Amino acid sequence: MNSIQDLIEFVKIDTTSAKGKGEEGAKFIKDYMQSHGIEARVVQHRSRNPYVLGEINVGAQKTLLIYNHYDVQPVEPLERWQSDPFNPVEKDGKLIGRGVGDDKGSLMARLQAIIEMGKPPVNIKFVYEGEEEIGSPNIDSFLEAHKEELKSDYILWEGAGRGASGAPEIVLGVKGLLYVELILRTEKDLHSMYAPISKNPAWDLVRILSSLKRGDKVSLPGFYDKVKWLTESELKYLKSDRASMEKALGQKLPEDFERRLIEEPTCNIAGLYSGYTGEGSKTVIPSYAMAKLDFRLVPNQDPDEVLNQLKEFLPGVEIKVWGKVRPYRTSITSKISISLIESAKKVYGTEPEVIPNSPGTGPMESFARILNNNQIADGVGVEHPGSNIHSFNENIYVKDYMMAKEWMKQFLRELG
Ligand SMILES: [Zn+2]
Repeated sequence: MNSIQDLIEFVKIDTTSAKGKGEEGAKFIKDYMQSHGIEARVVQHRSRNPYVLGEINVGAQKTLLIYNHYDVQPVEPLERWQSDPFNPVEKDGKLIGRGVGDDKGSLMARLQAIIEMGKPPVNIKFVYEGEEEIGSPNIDSFLEAHKEELKSDYILWEGAGRGASGAPEIVLGVKGLLYVELILRTEKDLHSMYAPISKNPAWDLVRILSSLKRGDKVSLPGFYDKVKWLTESELKYLKSDRASMEKALGQKLPEDFERRLIEEPTCNIAGLYSGYTGEGSKTVIPSYAMAKLDFRLVPNQDPDEVLNQLKEFLPGVEIKVWGKVRPYRTSITSKISISLIESAKKVYGTEPEVIPNSPGTGPMESFARILNNNQIADGVGVEHPGSNIHSFNENIYVKDYMMAKEWMKQFLRELG
């Protein structure tokens, strides 16, 4: 088995889920697994981008479920790529192509590690999704439909790689999300000479928005009641490279930015609109004002509860809900977390970067709730901070790929 060549063959298949190109990639990975003696099948579920399920039963007591996705983001703008995104080339120790990092590289590195091991020390189940890059629209119903066969003790998430500090990254959860639109209206636009005797939705919206935060804190009553603040041991593994992050974000960062980024829930104004915004002046009292807000929620906040708090706080305001995702965090003292941390230390010879929950959002909580599993963690990935995932010239270091394979083997030994 030439492991990099096999990854190259996989990347050559265009699996852009936004264009419904799942079939061929799913078949490739199913055939690949079968040719190495792993039980596998393609499962159609509500879309043109099927799932692949697989299993290795070695008769062990514990079972690990591995989740990856084989679909990729669109490659456009094509002219910005230095080589064909679907014909990966190795150059200066790097492999360039769409999906080499997100997520075909991690998928393949893990699978090859297991194949090379022969008989892994735990049972392994595989679930490969083909529509992660379009927001996993069917993942909940898929998990519901297959929850018996996906039963497991641990779940390994899709894989990151090396974090901002250069150390291997382990992520134990995600933030949740509540996305709403606040709308204020009056019957019609009015000449602004009527301002002394008229309501102005724009002013009302500004007052409402400023009442939602005091300093850095959200002032919605009850908002922080369920927040699970980080423990000493969770804080211990936080590390990030301040300089490179300041450069990436184009701004100075606050003193305790690492903690804040992970631990603080937020209320962010994502969009604002009212009145006349064209060139020159228009003396008008607008009849419409709107703001889009995203609340990033942390364990154990609940988007439905926060929505109720918001409704109580803003009686009479029209609230449209655009999105709800629950947050999730696996304990740093759980078996899967310890196995990832210990195996990373052994393979890389350094302390890993352990992120209790990503500052971003994803469907981890669906897996936890539907599959009734509270040990879900991300690690054993192939990316590096300059991997350009979702962008042009997506790349990984071949060395990182090889290291991820060793990490996978050691992780399975720790878990077994
Ligand atoms: Zn992605």
